[in-house]
Amino acid sequence: MRRCRLLALPLALSLILGTAFSQEIPPPLRILLIDGQNNHDWRATTPLIKRTLEATGLFQVDVATAPSDPQEIASFKPDLTPYAAIVSNYNGQPWPAETERAIEQFVAGGRGLVCVHAANNSFPQWASYNRMIGLGGWGGRDEKSGPYVRWRDGALVRQLEPGSGGSHGARHPFAIVVRDPDHPITKGLPPAFTQAVDELYGQLRGPAENMHVLATAMSAVETGGTGEHEPILMTIHYGDGRVFHTTLGHDVVAIRGLAFQITLQRGTQWAASGQVTLPEIDPSILTLDEPASSDPFASGAGATIVDPQAIPDPRREGWTRLFNGENLSGWTRRNGTASFTAEEGTILGRTALGSPNSFLCSEKDYKNFELSFEVKVDDALNSGVQIRSKSLADYQSGRVHGPQVEIEALDAAGTSDAGYIYSEATGRNWLSTERPIQNAFLNGQWNRFHVRAVGDRIQTWVNGQKIADLVDPESFASGFIGLQVHGIPEDQGPFEVRWRDLKIRVLDDQCKMQ
Ligand code: ZN
Repeated sequence: MRRCRLLALPLALSLILGTAFSQEIPPPLRILLIDGQNNHDWRATTPLIKRTLEATGLFQVDVATAPSDPQEIASFKPDLTPYAAIVSNYNGQPWPAETERAIEQFVAGGRGLVCVHAANNSFPQWASYNRMIGLGGWGGRDEKSGPYVRWRDGALVRQLEPGSGGSHGARHPFAIVVRDPDHPITKGLPPAFTQAVDELYGQLRGPAENMHVLATAMSAVETGGTGEHEPILMTIHYGDGRVFHTTLGHDVVAIRGLAFQITLQRGTQWAASGQVTLPEIDPSILTLDEPASSDPFASGAGATIVDPQAIPDPRREGWTRLFNGENLSGWTRRNGTASFTAEEGTILGRTALGSPNSFLCSEKDYKNFELSFEVKVDDALNSGVQIRSKSLADYQSGRVHGPQVEIEALDAAGTSDAGYIYSEATGRNWLSTERPIQNAFLNGQWNRFHVRAVGDRIQTWVNGQKIADLVDPESFASGFIGLQVHGIPEDQGPFEVRWRDLKIRVLDDQCKMQ
């Protein structure tokens, strides 16, 4: 009987883990960014908007570029199916009726729309679009489009007087005042902060139904403005869907404004999901005193923020292969004499008689990254994957040392330390001093490992189950990745370990966990 139970357990476990694995990966919010026509420089601003969103680690942004040839616009019918939200950086010709209907149903059905700056100039004749964005400007908009909406004496006022919709004065930095500090988008923002040089839209008008103004800015007469507190950030409920409308973002300079970036990130997450999990903003980086800017493409700026709760997701963009499937190009053998060969799309490590621990090491060093691989190991062989490790001539004659993600089959008692962190050859022993989960590994099968190293924090998952999550400022901040074949007693072996689908997503040096 006992034998039967032992056989049945791994099978049941694999079924449970298999299911859990597919369900536990929180997919990035997929966003469709639409551009292609705009009286603004969409070719320059779209990549910045995309990068600003993706820097959060929350979004995967695809771009749909509508034809710029007026004769071809009727062919613009993007597939909206995979997306949680649309971000519009489009100001141009009407889209075909089929596309309009699809977007109406997309938003009304519970998904999101984000309207950036001149996207609110678009489509003056498309009634549903104007209900979605609440307010618009130019394009012949006037009192028939809806009221002007302003903030006066602590409240919104709607004015139906005749007049055209849409104006702005000279570009300048201006203060944005949060009017609802309790909305998920504005919660955790300073009460007032200054946007980089941008256009301050005024005199917008539209249906303004189900619209909530989150923040306003005083459009000063001295800069050619209206003398009114104009709506800058708005949310609109349309059917079951959510719209975030920012009038900020005129050009590259404006989009490099942190006020634009932070509110776009938060507003897009809210539009796409109904919640905001991004961290509160340190008031010292988003101040009223002076406008803060950040180039999301510059190194050290726009640092990626990683959600520590989310398992690394190799379906995202940004992953590169560490193993080409054919040969060991990019890898170097170190220490012992175990063999490493590329076979059938795997890296095969095989023990050698009397060899100490052997390592196949990446030629590149990695600092902040996510790593994903599959591994299959003979039950009797210990293995592991070094991260941020080094081989130094003046340290034990080049002995590979640093943190190791343990790879180990379940023993006869059904336990394994797989996924925990050991400090190889440093005398520090286990960095994972407590190892409560001992059953995540599947003997004789391919096991999927995920590793994340950001700053001094290291996280691991085995078959979708979180195993290690530790902070270790003592380990190297950067180093190679190394595949270990452990030494074995002379009367045993040979044993084998195989890795496949090794890939890495390099994160920037300033990357932070939330
Ligand atoms: Zn503009």
